[in-house]
Amino acid sequence: MAEARWVDVVVPVPVRTAFTYAWPLDREPEPGLRVFVPFGRNRVLLGVVVSVRTDAPDYTAKDVLRCVDERPSFQRQQLALWYWLSEYYLCAPGEAMAAAMPGFMQVEPDDEAPYTLRDDGVWSVRFAAPRHDGDAVNRAFESLARAKLQAEALLRYFQLALEAEPDDNRHPWVAVASMTAEGSDVKPAHLSALVERGILERELRPLDRSLDLGHALALPELSEAQSAALTELGSAAGQPALLWGATGSGKTEVYLHLAAHALEEGKHVLLMVPEIGLIPQVLRRAGRALGAERVAAWHHQLADGERRALWDHLLDPDSAPRVVVATRSGILLPWHRLGLIVVDEEHETSYKQQEPAPRYHARDVAVWLAQQKKIPIVLGSATPSAETWHHAATGKYARAALTERYSGVAFPEVRALSTLKAQALHQEVGPFTPEAYAAVAQALVDRQQVLVFQNRRGYAPVLTCMNCGWIEPCSECDVSLTYHKKARQLVCHYCGLHKDLPQTCPQCRQSAWDWRGLGTERIEEEVEALFPEARILRVDSDSTRSKRAMSDFLQWMESGEIDLVVGTQMVGKGLDIAGLALAVVTNADTMLSRPDFRAHERAFQLLLQVAGRTGRREQRGLLLVQTATPGHPVLQKVADHDVAGMMDLLLRDRAEHHYPPFARMLRIEVRHRKESVARDVAHFLAENLLRALAGGILGPDAPPVARVQGLFRQHLWVKLPADGSVKATKRRVLKELDGLIYHPHGRSVRVVVDVDPI
Ligand code: ADP
Ligand code: ZN
Ligand code: ZN
Repeated sequence: MAEARWVDVVVPVPVRTAFTYAWPLDREPEPGLRVFVPFGRNRVLLGVVVSVRTDAPDYTAKDVLRCVDERPSFQRQQLALWYWLSEYYLCAPGEAMAAAMPGFMQVEPDDEAPYTLRDDGVWSVRFAAPRHDGDAVNRAFESLARAKLQAEALLRYFQLALEAEPDDNRHPWVAVASMTAEGSDVKPAHLSALVERGILERELRPLDRSLDLGHALALPELSEAQSAALTELGSAAGQPALLWGATGSGKTEVYLHLAAHALEEGKHVLLMVPEIGLIPQVLRRAGRALGAERVAAWHHQLADGERRALWDHLLDPDSAPRVVVATRSGILLPWHRLGLIVVDEEHETSYKQQEPAPRYHARDVAVWLAQQKKIPIVLGSATPSAETWHHAATGKYARAALTERYSGVAFPEVRALSTLKAQALHQEVGPFTPEAYAAVAQALVDRQQVLVFQNRRGYAPVLTCMNCGWIEPCSECDVSLTYHKKARQLVCHYCGLHKDLPQTCPQCRQSAWDWRGLGTERIEEEVEALFPEARILRVDSDSTRSKRAMSDFLQWMESGEIDLVVGTQMVGKGLDIAGLALAVVTNADTMLSRPDFRAHERAFQLLLQVAGRTGRREQRGLLLVQTATPGHPVLQKVADHDVAGMMDLLLRDRAEHHYPPFARMLRIEVRHRKESVARDVAHFLAENLLRALAGGILGPDAPPVARVQGLFRQHLWVKLPADGSVKATKRRVLKELDGLIYHPHGRSVRVVVDVDPI
């Protein structure tokens, strides 16, 4: 008879521990298996076995109900990561597990045949006629003259087929899931119709598991500076390395060479980018250099089938090496045989998850993972974060630099323009100062592309009644509603509340509206009026939610179909657009004056990044920054492209006031419907923490927007020493949080802990 076994199972609940169950099943238990377990009085939860034990717990453990997997769905390395996340970010391992478990794995107890590994392949289609029959394509499209949607589906097939590997005389297979992915108009019904017509053929294709590297690499030849950087990065033994490469200096090509090296050793590569919109461009560039079949994407908009294919591929110890271009959740994939991690634009705040827990910073997790696996990690940026810069300066990280643009073009000129002067003289032209207006007009005459940057979407942040001054607040948050003109709606940018624009003022019954402030929608409208000939596009999260995806935007920019883009920070990041000559920041003051110790770092990074989008190939670019304070030291440093000088300023200030990277921060947010309760509990907690830690507590205070979604918030900050006793301090913080149950309202508040908040 088999030995009695118990297993520790992590379940998706916010409790900081695993739960022990008896193992009554025939098959051997193993870490990484998904199981259904009874939980509480009558719930059944899907959990993951994290360890197997032969010693009985000192209570009667309930039985595991069912094991879902034939083989583990998760690697031990991943389980260890969940525990590390829960310790470092003070969350439950079950919260880390929930973040790491893709939707296709989250089966229900009554699913008959839940997905198990390697049980099938990927549904794929290909053009049925052989490749040498060139006229077949024309005939197919002619026959679809009356079936527009099917013709579009076929077109989509040929687009995707360009990136796939063809057979000698057959067109390549393309996964159905990638054709019908979110953001595409293609529906499975269109594909079925094409199969019926005999234009496409459809098959369940086995996953590609060949180790064969197929066709040769086509790496770009590196410049001398790039080769030198590559050598330096290669010799950064055992240390994380910063690649500090100016915008347009060709960091991507250096990454691709490093990646090729890992592939040749049979190892996978994780290439992280901060924004889903950047993935297509990087995929294309990586595919061209390394072979399209060797690169894959990972992000939340992929279809389940695609995610599953990649997951299986990475779990399979014999699978061919891949370069995976991913957003932050890529760090949670089943990585073994990982040979290299690259974190591009490492300074970007989108690497940090805000909601829900685990509130992890993917760059920092990547550094940890690389150290665990003893593999190289490269953090790339033109404007490194103060933390990374500090580590490189103190020798904790290695550093390589690319100081010139690959094209040899000088860095963009940066000029600060006074909005106060323009206002005083009544010289403003729409959203522009006269200088900026003239520059935009000239650029358009010269047929150059222009970017107008405004970090606020919607039409106007405040809508008021001209008669009585009434302003509509959000009913749930302490902010005014933003006016969205095209949608004729008032929208809360904090909680998403929408309401129709009232016909008349609720206070005085007049109907004369005025709006204050500028959003992208309003700038778009004003620029359209100023330059009626120009082809204008707005890119923000409102516009890209629809079909105008980032990749379309990029294609239009590349092909010169667009003259002027109005955009939020979505366009400021990492994009490589050849024709962009001029960028105008309509108002830099909000970012320069935010009440946050990181405000200047962020403003510097954002402005230099926006500047870096211009003048990348031939002609020197120009960035115009409109501001009330043209002499601001941050603007000075941007104008001088002086990253090192800016970092010196920042780090001196941070050291003096004991802020990161010279201390670590931990933020505790207490939320409650009643302001007094939130305040009471926060004070209670602050006092207890003060007693336990003997100092290092800031607050509690209400944040600038005190109420969100109906809950009042109070913030408390704990400063931890940069090294040494962090773990012990965190444990004490946890103890005090558990002690909240002794407060009469301790159970009714919601407490959110954010380690290294940004
Ligand atoms: P970064 O990521 O550092 O801003 P990119 O990698 O986007 O810079 O490079 C800027 C431009 O220079 C790109 O258009 C890229 O194709 C080109 N480039 C950089 N290095 C090379 C190279 N070794 N060979 C050919 N083109 C290059
Ligand atoms: Zn009114
Ligand atoms: Zn709201």
